[in-house]
Amino acid sequence: MTCHHDLIVIGAGPGGYELAAAVAACGLDVAIVERDAPGGTCLNRGCIPTKCLCAAADAALSATNPAPGVFARDMFMDFGAVRAHMQQTVDSLRDDIATALKSCTYYHAQASLTADGAVQLSSGQLLTATHVVIATGSTPAILPIDGADLAIDSDRALALDAVPASMAVIGGGVIGLEMASAFSALGCKVTVVEFLPEILPGFDADIARRLRSMLSRRGIKIITSAAATAIAPAGDASGAYTLCYTAKGKPQTLTADKILMAVGRRPVLPEGVESCGIAVDNRGFITVDELMRTSRPGVYAIGDVADRGPMLAHVASAQARLVAAQICSHSLQGIASDSASIPDIDFGTIPSVVFTNPGAYATGLTQAAAESAGYKVTVRKTPVISNGYARATAHTDGLVKVITDADSGRVLGIHYVGPQAPALVAQAQLIVSHRLTAAALSRTIFPHPTLTELLAL
Ligand SMILES: Cc1cc2nc3c(=O)[nH]c(=O)nc-3n(C[C@H](O)[C@H](O)[C@H](O)COP(=O)(O)OP(=O)(O)OC[C@H]3O[C@@H](n4cnc5c(N)ncnc54)[C@H](O)[C@@H]3O)c2cc1C
Repeated sequence: MTCHHDLIVIGAGPGGYELAAAVAACGLDVAIVERDAPGGTCLNRGCIPTKCLCAAADAALSATNPAPGVFARDMFMDFGAVRAHMQQTVDSLRDDIATALKSCTYYHAQASLTADGAVQLSSGQLLTATHVVIATGSTPAILPIDGADLAIDSDRALALDAVPASMAVIGGGVIGLEMASAFSALGCKVTVVEFLPEILPGFDADIARRLRSMLSRRGIKIITSAAATAIAPAGDASGAYTLCYTAKGKPQTLTADKILMAVGRRPVLPEGVESCGIAVDNRGFITVDELMRTSRPGVYAIGDVADRGPMLAHVASAQARLVAAQICSHSLQGIASDSASIPDIDFGTIPSVVFTNPGAYATGLTQAAAESAGYKVTVRKTPVISNGYARATAHTDGLVKVITDADSGRVLGIHYVGPQAPALVAQAQLIVSHRLTAAALSRTIFPHPTLTELLAL
């Protein structure tokens, strides 16, 4: 029997479940289909479990070096308890999602699309809807090299039940570096192998360079301009692996207990997408317009699977709110939504945070992007050591970089590496997204002594 809903959402990650809950709150009949556990990558294999690991890593680092004049006698880490905390955190947040979705019909099944746009469930049911939203997310990408199947991906790294003695991380992007930073702090000998000349592609060059040197000083070996070419068992009784790579044109090898491949993510499409007339780009992402509409009327795509915006949970959630506003206004007023009344997403100021120790953040244009966009830029770099709170707490390494349009005075971008990056990013993002000028910043009274004063002009 075919069941009809106002909206069917495929995928219960941060894009899908936020959208389903928001539209159900408008009184519409919403179904959500999830083949795995609710919460998606973010809750089950991404943002939340990695931050449990990063929090354990931060605690381990501060336990071994608490503060000038304070010495820890014994530091003991029970990785089983770290994993248990991770699981409890995930479970409790899953309960919150179940509560948020209580007004929706929840199908635990795999969904595919039929040629006429209906949603076929693996359980056999056929669903139809006025609106369909594809929020099926992404999965780790795999480098096509010999022995790739011997590597673990971020999903498996988060499921390890012990900290390996050594790990090679292929990829110096955000996920690879967060894993490298956390496992290193927990006692693992980590080497990062990055293909590009610098880590953190897309970040401001000064911030990436400084973070690389700070992580190197923590004992993480970072090899840049190096291409992984093959993975093979080391051939001894240890069960370790050999990673072959070329650096500066020369073949090299290194041996590690685990090889983590963190080379980006690829979209996950429900079966039948293309045959029901939904356009997909040449990298496999669903093509959407500025309102997240696909090429098939009534079908939207949001989050990692869509070809708009960085692959981040808060981007998926913002896109969910954008689509929810359209569906609610369309259905409640019985008119086609007026795109002018729907708030746009400012992709240019979406914040990115790197939860390494120390961490980093970025919002707005990098210096290179501002210059290539034709701005005459003023660049102010302030070392963290200039700040009183940083000196008082003895966390003085780092840098904040403020990029300003010299003509209008508008702050175009703020980039940071140093202590408390995740807590500081929202301040920077508000400045950039609300188009504040350097003059407005200089009128702002920042509380003393805090790291927020690093932005005082
Ligand atoms: C290790 C790691 C750390 C991360 N850390 C951060 C971070 O700190 N901050 C941040 O903003 N982002 C982070 N991310 C990225 C973030 O997790 C994703 O951007 C976010 O989860 C995307 O949300 P989504 O709703 O688009 O998709 P997902 O969260 O991937 O959810 C998609 C859901 O769809 C389901 N699904 C797929 N196909 C079907 C089908 N055919 N039928 C039914 N269900 C289906 C999947 O099972 C999944 O549950 C991290 C990612 C990783 C891997």
